[in-house]
Amino acid sequence: MLKCRTVWKKLAPLARASSTVCRQNVRRTGLNNSRIPACVPVAHMSTGPAGGGRENQLYVLLVGAACVGGAIYTYRTVKGDNQRYQDRIDEISSRPYKRATEEPATPIQSEPPAVDATETEVIPEPEPEAAPSPEPQAAPSPEEPSPLAPDAAVAAPIETTEPPPGGPAPASLKVPSHTPYLLIGGGTASFAAARSIRARDPGAKVLIVTDEPDPPYMRPPLSKELWFSNDPSVTETLRFKQWNGKERSIYFQPPSFYINAEELDGAENGGVAVLTGKKVVHMDVRGNKIKLDDDTEISYDKCLIATGGVPRNLQVIERAGEEVMKKTTLFRKIEDFKSLDKVSRNIKSITIIGGGFLGSELACALGRRSTEYDLEVVQMFPEKGNMGKVLPEYLSNWTTEKVKSEGVKVISEALVKSVVCKDDKLEIKLKDGRLVKTDHIVAAVGLEPNVDLAKSAGLEVDSDFGGFRVNAELQARSNIWVAGDAACFYDIRLGRRRVEHHDHAVVSGRLAGENMTGANKPYWHQSMFWSDLGPDVGYEAIGIVDSSLPTVGVFAKATAKDTPKAATEKSGTGIRSESETEDTAISPVASLTPAPNVGQHKDEYGKGVIFYLRDKVVVGIILWNVFNRMPIARKIIKDGEEHADLNEVAKLFNIHDD
Ligand SMILES: Cc1cc2nc3c(=O)[nH]c(=O)nc-3n(C[C@H](O)[C@H](O)[C@H](O)COP(=O)(O)OP(=O)(O)OC[C@H]3O[C@@H](n4cnc5c(N)ncnc54)[C@H](O)[C@@H]3O)c2cc1C
Repeated sequence: MLKCRTVWKKLAPLARASSTVCRQNVRRTGLNNSRIPACVPVAHMSTGPAGGGRENQLYVLLVGAACVGGAIYTYRTVKGDNQRYQDRIDEISSRPYKRATEEPATPIQSEPPAVDATETEVIPEPEPEAAPSPEPQAAPSPEEPSPLAPDAAVAAPIETTEPPPGGPAPASLKVPSHTPYLLIGGGTASFAAARSIRARDPGAKVLIVTDEPDPPYMRPPLSKELWFSNDPSVTETLRFKQWNGKERSIYFQPPSFYINAEELDGAENGGVAVLTGKKVVHMDVRGNKIKLDDDTEISYDKCLIATGGVPRNLQVIERAGEEVMKKTTLFRKIEDFKSLDKVSRNIKSITIIGGGFLGSELACALGRRSTEYDLEVVQMFPEKGNMGKVLPEYLSNWTTEKVKSEGVKVISEALVKSVVCKDDKLEIKLKDGRLVKTDHIVAAVGLEPNVDLAKSAGLEVDSDFGGFRVNAELQARSNIWVAGDAACFYDIRLGRRRVEHHDHAVVSGRLAGENMTGANKPYWHQSMFWSDLGPDVGYEAIGIVDSSLPTVGVFAKATAKDTPKAATEKSGTGIRSESETEDTAISPVASLTPAPNVGQHKDEYGKGVIFYLRDKVVVGIILWNVFNRMPIARKIIKDGEEHADLNEVAKLFNIHDD
């Protein structure tokens, strides 16, 4: 296009001259013959009416000379432009090579200097379709954006017999000085983004930078299935049996899925490389570059921030000194699982502070060990019952009884006043005077979104929810996106939110990846989350589930089929977000069995549906021991209608039929 315009500019005077000739000549012809002028070729004009004689011959000569001159000029111009065009293309195509050779990136200190880049074998990326897709994706309707169903590739890793990754990957020998797609953080959101970038732009070069020693892995099994494994080497293999008995790894992909970071630049078909054990410490948003903790700089075209969060601690513990801190675990990563597993085998008493998902799951997991290892397991929290911030009070109390039955001593309405270390024991003093002596503390008191980079990047942090403030397209600046736990995003259905869940990391990571490749889609697909208190009790939730909102619950008696274990056995899936199917969403079948009134079965919360209301509209739903019906719940939230009788709505979930 540029080339055409340049040529046209040069030819324009010539074109104007000849058209002037044409118009003048036509005018003369018209005047002479009193005929309606027509733009006819010059050659035809020469056959005009008699009387033009010599003048016409002279004119033909002049025009002929002009044409020959024009042709020569055009030929030389086009030839010259072709040459310049070729030179420019050559220059552009040699750029990455120049950058790699002229501006070598600062090597990582651990790099063995003798290793030559060309000696390292490029490991081909397995075809994406190799990952089984448990969820068929329905074709998007024309009026709606395509549903962002949970990413099968993320949720269902390719199974591998390769040894588990760990320790600084040998892949990170040399850091590329430039990458088209840079993903900061190596968690679920980044991995989902990498997959969607590659799906939309198959030759894309994607670099993931993570400060963890491992390539991307899923966190949910760290507080669930891994604790129930019979394999004594589970902390090494990090393979676990899902509730349905199938074995899998916590890593999304085996090491061979990734290409070497140093080879990313020259990889013909692109690929995904992971730089492990490297922290991004500075972002220069205007200069499109970041700095690592070893001062290496990497420039990018598009960047995703998916830095997740860091576990909060209690101030009283932080202030209590080193001895107390040494005996405290903040649980988030593989290394935390490994160290807590070890600690719990060698002590007599452990106390979990926190009554949310993580605290309750870990309490149940450790509770099961209590008899085997003669371990006292205590769980304490300020609320009245377990998961009290999410579940309505009656259900929260019911859950507490369930946790107790798993061998856990639950201390509710407990506010920690101080912690001291005395005679190698920790003494936890509560505000009401109660005292708990224990050997180790697990503080599961929430997450602080990791926004360390906000300052250098000049990005806005949300004052209410925390996290980087992004728009509905998950964009913070023109070429910067944020996904996962660290994103405070605008949900076009439910307003501004920040969500700390696996499926949201998948959904938002994938959306960010799509938008980084130009999709411009808003956050539309509601993510879900789940929590299991061991293999027997579990729930799935969607939307805003906050126990301070009015709720309506409809329950039925549970059968042996209504457990997370039975549900995963039936569906053949493991990670819960895989089990959603579009069919259920599209054709819900109303139950003929009348649902009981709200408040019935007070003592029996075997299974049920809990609706959370804001201004009479359902904004959140919990499916309590009800599985594989999430698409129905999603549709109810999406419709955003007022419902006069929620018993009728509950029938859609068929809780009385099974
Ligand atoms: C034990 C546990 C159990 C869970 N169970 C469930 C569950 O049952 N259901 C559910 O829905 N959700 C669950 N979650 C929550 C879910 O795992 C998270 O919401 C999800 O992992 C968020 O993904 P993310 O990619 O945003 O962040 P993360 O997974 O936290 O990944 C962020 C990564 O970025 C790295 N990073 C941060 N800053 C930098 C930097 N400056 N440079 C380089 N790297 C950096 C971090 O080290 C980390 O590796 C659980 C979480 C935990 C910890």
